[in-house]
Amino acid sequence: MAGKKKVIVIGAGYGGLASAVLLAHKGFAVTLIEKNAVPGGRARLWEEKGYRFDMGPSWYLMPEAFDRFFDLIGKKREDYLPLDRLDPYYRVFFSKDEFVDIGPDMKKTKKTFASFEKGGDEKLVKYLENCRIKYDTAVGEFLYRDYSSVLDFMNPTLLLKGTKLSVFESLDSLVSKYFTDHRAKKILEYAMVFLGNSPYNAPAMYSMMSHLDLDLGVFFPRNGMWGIVEALMELCREYGVEVKLGEPVRSIEMHGKDARAVVTDKGRYEADIVLANADYAHAETDLLPDAACGLDEGYWKKKTYAPSMFIMYLGVKKRLKRLAHHTLYFAADWDHHFRQIFDDPAWPDQPSYYVSVTSKTQPDVAPKGCENVFVLVPVACNLDDNDAQRAAYADKMIAHLETLAGENIRDHIEVKRIFSGRDFTADYNARYNTALGLSHTFDQTAVFRPPRRSKKVKNLFYAGHYTHPGVGVPMVFIAAELAAKVIAGER
Ligand SMILES: Cc1cc2nc3c(=O)[nH]c(=O)nc-3n(C[C@H](O)[C@H](O)[C@H](O)COP(=O)(O)OP(=O)(O)OC[C@H]3O[C@@H](n4cnc5c(N)ncnc54)[C@H](O)[C@@H]3O)c2cc1C
Repeated sequence: MAGKKKVIVIGAGYGGLASAVLLAHKGFAVTLIEKNAVPGGRARLWEEKGYRFDMGPSWYLMPEAFDRFFDLIGKKREDYLPLDRLDPYYRVFFSKDEFVDIGPDMKKTKKTFASFEKGGDEKLVKYLENCRIKYDTAVGEFLYRDYSSVLDFMNPTLLLKGTKLSVFESLDSLVSKYFTDHRAKKILEYAMVFLGNSPYNAPAMYSMMSHLDLDLGVFFPRNGMWGIVEALMELCREYGVEVKLGEPVRSIEMHGKDARAVVTDKGRYEADIVLANADYAHAETDLLPDAACGLDEGYWKKKTYAPSMFIMYLGVKKRLKRLAHHTLYFAADWDHHFRQIFDDPAWPDQPSYYVSVTSKTQPDVAPKGCENVFVLVPVACNLDDNDAQRAAYADKMIAHLETLAGENIRDHIEVKRIFSGRDFTADYNARYNTALGLSHTFDQTAVFRPPRRSKKVKNLFYAGHYTHPGVGVPMVFIAAELAAKVIAGER
């Protein structure tokens, strides 16, 4: 390692792992330091009594972003991360008695939309064409661009191209121009929760999410989302990244305007460059001395945070036929849930929610004849998340899930874990219990996200979901590429 520049990466989420691999591939000597004993950050694995759960993300969208990462290091994605296209992509319940499957057969999807409203099939074709244009514009002009100042954004060519993205219109307003039926609208708007936003507040450019799921498709790694962590850990080994697990970083030591070392309870790691992939607010306000903090509490207080989540991991000792690999339930009054997340914070009394049962496609994640059931309800940040509240909410959600499954689940649960608001703070140093970091409002998009380069420390950089392009697994792979290029002086 003599002669190589030393980079310390803080936080082994997908973002930190991917950045570490790219930097090591570029010739840096990289040490990656992670607080938790298991790598993967929000995408860790939890195992109990033969049940395996991907703790966080479960949707593998935008496959080209992952392929591009492997291309950058001259590897083939399929050698490290084999994938399958899901069929159906997902099942949507509008009530306990009405559900539709959305899958790879576009003819069937068009029929489904035609059954929702007159001309729904043709409207879908036109709408998806609009989404594709937005996606191509975003990929071609915005997502892979590093913004170091507003001037990078405010140039006439980009602004002209930006008009194609409809940043000043809300997603709901765009969708409502095409569709009136609530079911069509819900299918085209649900993904906003993945971005920590509501369709009423998200810029219409995020309609590109419908291009991702309906056109490009929904895939799943053979070894689940954990398979991505395994692939990245394997690459870390190949490129000689030193990975330290179970070692929270306590501070970044300064020398003048430079970060000189990263300090943990077990050691002091000298650095030429520090890349923080931990939650940005934590890194700035908790790890840096006050004089080096460029974005203080005042800055973070003004931000709009993405929701928190109530999650249950259930090991169920039977097969649940009515649930698919990905199942979504959309409540009749869908606005009410958004209001309880964003406007009048409260535990949702009629929630829309998401259920993942990866044992439908991965045989080894549950004992034979059993299912690993993951239930996710988006909830407001900072709700009172005491044990009694959690237990009561778990009961309510299991009862509702039984109505979708059409059978008793409660008496067949042999593994149960709840992960909710306070756990995001305890496990990831999240601010305000947010599950996803900063929401994707217009003023928190692209150049308006927290900057890649520290405002005050010359050799401190940021990656991960707080930075551009933002929340989501493919996005943090893009952020890793941008961070590695900036650090290597390629931007
Ligand atoms: C429940 C859930 C479901 C999701 N579903 C999807 C989905 O289906 N598809 C999708 O694309 N996206 C999804 N997302 C979003 C996606 O998971 C995230 O955007 C992405 O994983 C963030 O990666 P990251 O590396 O930026 O952050 P993280 O994964 O949070 O990594 C940051 C790491 O820093 C570590 N850290 C923090 N403080 C310190 C410290 N002081 N010292 C050392 N280490 C520290 C943390 O422990 C963590 O490991 C989901 C998120 C959640 C929470």
